[in-house]
Amino acid sequence: WRSKPEPTGVSSRAERKALEKARIQQRESEREIFRLVGRVLKKPEAERSKEEAAVLLRHRDTVDELSKRQVRRNVLKRKQEEVFDDADELKNKVRQLATAIKQANHLVVYTGAGISTAASIPDYRGPNGVWTQLQKGHTVNSSDLSKAEPTLTHMCIKMLHKEKMVKHVVSQNCDGLHLRSGLPRSALSELHGNMFIEVCTSCSPLKEYIRLFDVTERTSLHRHGTGRRCSHCSGELRDTIVHFGERGTLEQPLNWKGAAEAARKADVILCLGSSLKVLKKYACLWCMNRPASKRPKLYIVNLQWTPKDDLAMLKINGKCDDVMRLLMEEFNLQIPLYDRTEDPIFSLATPLQAEEVNSHSREVIAPPDGQNCSSNSEGQVKEATAVQGGWFGRGYGKGRKARKKSA
Ligand SMILES: [Zn+2]
Repeated sequence: WRSKPEPTGVSSRAERKALEKARIQQRESEREIFRLVGRVLKKPEAERSKEEAAVLLRHRDTVDELSKRQVRRNVLKRKQEEVFDDADELKNKVRQLATAIKQANHLVVYTGAGISTAASIPDYRGPNGVWTQLQKGHTVNSSDLSKAEPTLTHMCIKMLHKEKMVKHVVSQNCDGLHLRSGLPRSALSELHGNMFIEVCTSCSPLKEYIRLFDVTERTSLHRHGTGRRCSHCSGELRDTIVHFGERGTLEQPLNWKGAAEAARKADVILCLGSSLKVLKKYACLWCMNRPASKRPKLYIVNLQWTPKDDLAMLKINGKCDDVMRLLMEEFNLQIPLYDRTEDPIFSLATPLQAEEVNSHSREVIAPPDGQNCSSNSEGQVKEATAVQGGWFGRGYGKGRKARKKSA
């Protein structure tokens, strides 16, 4: 019976198998052509043999496809590259920026991770620095962020606000450094939250607790409870962080109202160290409902490509700190230095209740030397003292005061 013609079911299975085999062979031969063409294209034209030139002519479609892929790769590469303006160009561009700032009626500053890269801790810099990792989308132990201190850029922004040149600051950063620079809270919107702030949303108005440590150690996407309780209503406190894919609605510290109002009034927007990849999605920050000519003038300081570059009056390819230093020179203003004794976080902070002292394991921002931080509970002081000789102590040793003492 084996020699009998096979029933149709079996025959179609054989057909299917043959078809599948043909498809695999087809794919394999296409891949082979891609490899071959790719190899030939890599050679300089003059070095290609007649046979190789013929291969390219025979497979025009493959040549086109490979060239398209190469163009896409180059564009992507260019967008990630860091570009630096040379010293003269930088100076010239900053002069233009200074003129624009002087003429502005309502200057609003948008900031991103790039303004914190120079935070006084060496581990923040370089290809494996905290910020590089964050920018690559890797998660970083956020307790590291509490070691940062306001940079030259943070301090200059605060100064420009005091001089009434900057009206409002909209930040994507959660590191709390604008607040710690002394910028008044009314002039600040922290669109993605502040890692030192936890809030009670059961209380009305919302009750805020500023802490001297990173409150987010137990929180994550859609899980915002910090484990501590409101001293008024005993409701669980939550962090203020807005994760990717979440919608931030908290009044403080997000202050969307302030950000939207600032954008509405703005005639000049200065973007510092933000890739603008996230910010560009918030249409109200760019007055996109207005015709292009009625929108605020855009000035961008960033080493890398941003999606708003083509719309900018000026793109400055420099480090934020370098640009701010030159800008302060243009304005004849002295660069203010961060001074821990003037860091508002120590007076703003709410002490933990006795039973909460062990509710976290993050490092505490140490109060300045010699300052008895009255807002600290006993436990926190102990903990703050405990880290003095550790990582934080070393970072602090690099500060001005320590140098003065040793000089
Ligand atoms: Zn409450």
